[in-house]
Amino acid sequence: MSSSTASGPSWLIQWMQERGIVLWGAANLGDGCTPPDDQGRGFPFAVSWAVPLSPRIMARIRNGPNRDYADEYARVNDRINETSRELATELARRGYRSKPLEASARTDPVRIRGDFPHKTAATRAGLGWIGRHCQLVTRRFGSWVRLGTVFTDLALPCGPPMERHFCGSCARCVEACPAGALTGAAWYPGMPREEILDVYACDGWKKEHWYRFHKGHVCGICSSVCPYGLKFLGRTR
Ligand code: SF4
Ligand code: SF4
Repeated sequence: MSSSTASGPSWLIQWMQERGIVLWGAANLGDGCTPPDDQGRGFPFAVSWAVPLSPRIMARIRNGPNRDYADEYARVNDRINETSRELATELARRGYRSKPLEASARTDPVRIRGDFPHKTAATRAGLGWIGRHCQLVTRRFGSWVRLGTVFTDLALPCGPPMERHFCGSCARCVEACPAGALTGAAWYPGMPREEILDVYACDGWKKEHWYRFHKGHVCGICSSVCPYGLKFLGRTR
């Protein structure tokens, strides 16, 4: 259920439209893997959406992040968190259980991960695939997006889930990574993150070189060189 094929409750379609969210869908999570609600229950579904970052800014971080990118990253995350809270409230008002997943929150600093991967909801909603740089790649915006997720028990028409990658033989992101953190492996559904990304090499490099931007949480070099992002930039010119 992405922008062009959106289906589901008309109120939700309109709700997304009113907020200018053009790439979104629903994911069937069905295996109880989500963070629990207040009573310890998981959620069977998630609404997943992607908000584009400025392509002009993204194209300029091939050699590393800058202040514009750090500010754009924060701005879009703030917008996503606001939308997530509003959607969770709206779902609750309509009688459904709901829980927003915070954007870019690293709740497990040891294993360097959050409560649940936004990317998992996004691939299961069919919004895109995981590129060789371990980020979601969408056809419309490339990987120049940030992701939002709200868990719910509202039964939604889902997916279809993304079953494969569309990176082809491209490895630009792997070659561009200054930390040597990307293995070059091609994604398949359910693939462990470790097969694509050495998260400690990535994190260590960011902290060592770019701590001044969000304490080393941002880099973006691998995303900046992705041809799907560059196509997005081309369409905006
Ligand atoms: S974010 Fe930076 S360090 Fe991490 S994989 Fe991408 S290019 Fe490498
Ligand atoms: S740069 Fe190439 S390999 Fe990397 S995510 Fe983009 S298309 Fe895939």
